[in-house]
Amino acid sequence: MTSHQSIALALRARLDELTRRVDDLEAELRQPLDADFEEQAADLQDDEPLAALEDAGRGEIQRIRMALARIDDGSYGTCVTCGEGIAPARLAAVPTAVQCAGCAGATKSKRT
Ligand SMILES: [Zn+2]
Repeated sequence: MTSHQSIALALRARLDELTRRVDDLEAELRQPLDADFEEQAADLQDDEPLAALEDAGRGEIQRIRMALARIDDGSYGTCVTCGEGIAPARLAAVPTAVQCAGCAGATKSKRT
């Protein structure tokens, strides 16, 4: 098994777990509101961190799907910005990375 295949296995396991978690959160968020108004207000407040978690989960699911597609088409481990290889240590730390450390750092400093 190549290292990319073992990363793919780990990513698929993570994807399954995340999908379940986001489904749970979604079910929780869709629960009908309580009739009692105060309870409703409390529910709405409670839902905010849940919605944020759901968003974060969905974002990670997207990144994992992209990484898996890149493993499939053979472009995994290549920086999308400069085309250089992404360091294996970086992929081990951030398996969904699409940029090398240099480009990711440049993007980050441009954003801030
Ligand atoms: Zn790069």
